[in-house]
This record gives sequence, C-alpha cells and structure tokens, in this order.
Amino acid sequence: MSIFVTGGFHKQREASYACIIWCARKLLGKRLASRCRIDVEMSQLFTEQGAAGFCGWEDKNNSPRHFKIELEQRMDADTFLQALCHEMVHVKQFARNELQERYNNPMGHRIMWKGMVVKEDIVDYNDLPWEQEAYALEGLLYEEMLYDGVCVDYNWKFNHGMRKNFMPDLG
Ligand SMILES: [Zn+2]
Repeated sequence: MSIFVTGGFHKQREASYACIIWCARKLLGKRLASRCRIDVEMSQLFTEQGAAGFCGWEDKNNSPRHFKIELEQRMDADTFLQALCHEMVHVKQFARNELQERYNNPMGHRIMWKGMVVKEDIVDYNDLPWEQEAYALEGLLYEEMLYDGVCVDYNWKFNHGMRKNFMPDLG
C-alpha cells in the first residue's frame, strides 16, 4: 500500500498514516490493502468547499485502487481521525464496487449502491446509503483503532468545534 499525505502539520500527517494503515487492513484486508494507493490532502477545505471531507477514486470507476481523500485540517485529533475513518469507509465502498459511478449508459452519469441506482440529486445527504454506513462505522472504527493502541497518543486541539456545522462529504 502506498500512502501520500500533504498539508496539515507534522503530527496530523503522522497520525493519518497510522490511521489509514489500520483502517485499510481492517476494511480491505491485507491483500487488497497492499494493492491500494491513498493520497490525502489536508487544507482549509471547509472554507474552500463547504465540506469537511471528500473521497474519490483516481484511476478507474470499476474496482478502483487509487484514491484521493481531502480533509479539513482544523479539527481536534479525535474528530479529525474519526473523519478520516469515515473517508476510509468510502475507500472500502469504492474498492469493493459497493459504491460505483457509471458513465457508459444512455442515462449518463449514475451512482450505484450495491447494484441499485441511487438518485443522488433527490435523496437527502443523510439518507444516502453509503453515508449511513460511513456514519455508522466511523465511531466504531475509531474506538477499535484506539483499543488496538493505534493513534492513542495524538490529542491536538482546535477551538473551532467545526465539524458539527459541516455538510460533510460527497462519498
Ligand atoms: Zn461520507
């Protein structure tokens, strides 16, 4: 697995590597994880795009192996790492074709969830099945990661309390 992290500060990048390695092993398994490349870009994403995080594939829509995660950097360690766990759930969904973007059909761009078309423009963000799964798993992953002794020593703080106001991400 290759991981490239840019932006943020040193501890944030260090924690991101550890968190991604743990999540990838957990969510993808060792073999699939070893074939993936994950790029993380930290920035003041919320100010720029009104979202705390994004996750997308970079190589191909079918069984992608190269992913890009964008993350707001102004978050406390615990919220930041939970947001990263959330984005890693989306990596798993894309890598396993549970969440798939399709282009080559008469309907134009379509989003499929486990083989079913989801009309993203009319379904509420909170009702999108890939978001429901990501929100259901992010806290559990985070807790289990700490239980495994990964990222336990990171505890930086920001004063913004920003994430609650975020419209988080597009997949
Ligand atoms: Zn999401």
